[in-house]
Amino acid sequence: MSALKDLQRVAGEHVVKLGDDIFAPRHMKDFVVSAPEGVEILAAAFPTETAEVAAILRWCNDNRVPVTPQGGLTGVVGGAAPIAPCVVVSLERMRAIEEIDAAAATMTVQAGATLETVQNAADEAGFFFPLDLGGRGAAQIGGNASTNAGGNRVLRYGMMRDLVLGLEAVLADGTVVTSLNKMLKNNTGYDLKQLFIGAEGTLGIITRLVLKLYPKPASQCTALVALNGFDDALALLGRLKSGLGGALSAFELMWPDFYRVGTTALDRTPPIAEGCALYVLTDMLGADPAADSERFETIIAGAAEAGIVVDAVIAKSSAQARALWSIRDCPGEFPRAQHWPQLGFDVSVPIGDMGAFVEEARGLLTSRWPKAQALFFGHIADSNLHISVKLDEHVGSEHEIDDLIYAAVGAWRGSISAEHGIGLAKREYLHFSRSDAELALMRRIKAALDPNGILNPGKVI
Ligand SMILES: Cc1cc2nc3c(=O)[nH]c(=O)nc-3n(C[C@H](O)[C@H](O)[C@H](O)COP(=O)(O)OP(=O)(O)OC[C@H]3O[C@@H](n4cnc5c(N)ncnc54)[C@H](O)[C@@H]3O)c2cc1C
Repeated sequence: MSALKDLQRVAGEHVVKLGDDIFAPRHMKDFVVSAPEGVEILAAAFPTETAEVAAILRWCNDNRVPVTPQGGLTGVVGGAAPIAPCVVVSLERMRAIEEIDAAAATMTVQAGATLETVQNAADEAGFFFPLDLGGRGAAQIGGNASTNAGGNRVLRYGMMRDLVLGLEAVLADGTVVTSLNKMLKNNTGYDLKQLFIGAEGTLGIITRLVLKLYPKPASQCTALVALNGFDDALALLGRLKSGLGGALSAFELMWPDFYRVGTTALDRTPPIAEGCALYVLTDMLGADPAADSERFETIIAGAAEAGIVVDAVIAKSSAQARALWSIRDCPGEFPRAQHWPQLGFDVSVPIGDMGAFVEEARGLLTSRWPKAQALFFGHIADSNLHISVKLDEHVGSEHEIDDLIYAAVGAWRGSISAEHGIGLAKREYLHFSRSDAELALMRRIKAALDPNGILNPGKVI
């Protein structure tokens, strides 16, 4: 404790909380993964500016004290959960929107601002910040960058990695690397910001970011479409991509069990009857409301004439669009739909293989546990599939299910993490998606930036 008093002296009493002043339960868990029993938080730090983050890290590095960076704690793989005695560094007080540069179409923001705050600030300034995900009210923009978050609009705007033009990060030894670039083109050596994006707090603490803003879309067209099979999903995706000239923003595939949970199991009347092989929720964001909806409807009608589309419902109002989206967003309602507890997977396989992969994964599950209930859905245009296995007496342990699914993903040369990261939960499976040479290079980068291993030890690599 006396050593930590020294940290408090260095960084300030208003920044570092000790003993009973730490509300520990709040910092012990992300959205899904809890700290192991008995883990102690030595101090909780709430810096308000970069210099304070630097002072904390310098002290922790000098004293070999592990640090767990925390954002909004909406992560789902345990990246922010403490796993050994450590100093927690929460970014929640660093939440200022520092600047919106209208000419450059950028926002400079502190890492602790929530995603929703960023979205609203962009909107008020006449712009659009496209990253969107269910945890938007609590997830922080620094956490989004640290996990390279994805969400529902990746197809059109890319992942968080594509939305960051510059950033500032503090290294383990307290060195501040300020790289707040605002320009689209900047080929001056290594792109250092990319080191910290997706690193899940293992290479540095992100303190500020320059985000890319977009013009606000003037129109949105949404449709729910039923199909006979996976090949038709690929054919429809091809038509929408080429016909909409880059305005396609979502193409969410739902296999029938998932569709049933999102509709009848939640007392919603299915907009299209059950019994079809696949359902797609698709969405475009455009600039010309009348022309866009005509183009959108023409493509879907053309696909129906070609026998690709079995049935379709096109939203005629934003309320109808929200109702269609609520089917795809039903995972938040799994407990009410009696699909709970569940074990969720976020994987990717090359899009052309996804239909066959789903059949194989379902077959592997049910041949081992005949009564296993698994739901398949995902952002398939991004090659991203989610699987939700109901945890009940009919299936084995979480570990056994993980082993089975991740080995299958590895065999299909897929990725064991599409958008959620590795954190703690997927660390032992990383080898299924990364070669020995890749893992060795990751370890060399970690050792170069954090030679004493104080930053989020035991996570990712
Ligand atoms: C309802 C719901 C829906 C979701 N939907 C999606 C989705 O569609 N797509 C998706 O990609 N994710 C999704 N997520 C997961 C989660 O929201 C994202 O991973 C998010 O980016 C995490 O941000 P956070 O601030 O909560 O980070 P935390 O959970 O606090 O931390 C995540 C990781 O980042 C590190 N970290 C946090 N802040 C910093 C920082 N400033 N500097 C360095 N390291 C830091 C932590 O140490 C940890 O390793 C969802 C979560 C929920 C609860």
